Amino acid sequence: MSQPQSGTAENRAWAPTGREQEVDCNLCGSADRCLVAEENQYNVVRCEECGLLYVSPQPTDEDLSEFYAQYFPEESGDIWGEMMRRNFDLDSEYLLRKTGARGKALDIGCGHGEFLRRFAERGWDAFGLDFSPEAAAAANEIEGVQASQGEFAAGLFEAESFDVVTAWYVLEHARAPRTFVEEAFRILKPGGMFGIRVPNMVFSKVFLAMKKIPNMDKLLFAMNIDTDNKSSHFNIIDPPAHLFGFTPKTIEKLLSDVGFGNIAIIPSQPVEVGTTGTLIAKKVLFGSTSLVSLVTGHRFNPAPAVTAYARKI
Ligand SMILES: [Zn+2]
Repeated sequence: MSQPQSGTAENRAWAPTGREQEVDCNLCGSADRCLVAEENQYNVVRCEECGLLYVSPQPTDEDLSEFYAQYFPEESGDIWGEMMRRNFDLDSEYLLRKTGARGKALDIGCGHGEFLRRFAERGWDAFGLDFSPEAAAAANEIEGVQASQGEFAAGLFEAESFDVVTAWYVLEHARAPRTFVEEAFRILKPGGMFGIRVPNMVFSKVFLAMKKIPNMDKLLFAMNIDTDNKSSHFNIIDPPAHLFGFTPKTIEKLLSDVGFGNIAIIPSQPVEVGTTGTLIAKKVLFGSTSLVSLVTGHRFNPAPAVTAYARKI
């Protein structure tokens, strides 16, 4: 089980089964960890060595299959493509600028294929993979896009076969993010570009501090920042949908450890969904967190989500 990702409305009703297993840090291998929080009856821990946040004990593959079987609603439509419009525009412009005029792109967790559409329209060979059969079928309808249902398993694609590989909001769901990134590296051509986007745990820390302010909970609910599920607004990781939590620092370590270079980590654009008030609040939040990131020379980046681009060198 790995990148389930159609980005549609989610059903998170779930409880641990008792089959969960302790795991060590997936980024540095250390077994040293401290408990940070308990969320949805799972333990969220922080690696004492590298700072990676993760869930341990983790659900088994079987548990995750059962969880994801009830995760996607039957009819969801493509909310995701609309929510991610600005991010997808910026991502595709950046990645197309950094690569050749034509090439081969793979989007893992492609949803309804709206990101790949931007590559197909430029004459690229666009491939998609999504855990949701409905999303993969919808992406396949787009001219120039070939999408299939499934997980990003090792050996699924040939080595050095893609110019661009992307995974937007996928890594936090993955069973083993390091293996995932290693496989992306393997299938990229030398010089190829990798793009990912993940929730930013630096923001979660700020967020947790904010909720201690009187009446802040009401504002946060109104802003509907994290998820449509109001019970999980204050979660850092929100297991079992997410098993890992990254910061710009741990993302950079993950990418550079695997061998990527030219790593750029930037605040992600706000998700475009909600009432006018929500959208304004999100824009203010994005503007203020981006400014903090800028004035600190990107040493402190508290944006709700971060996008990373890296090159296989
Ligand atoms: Zn670690």
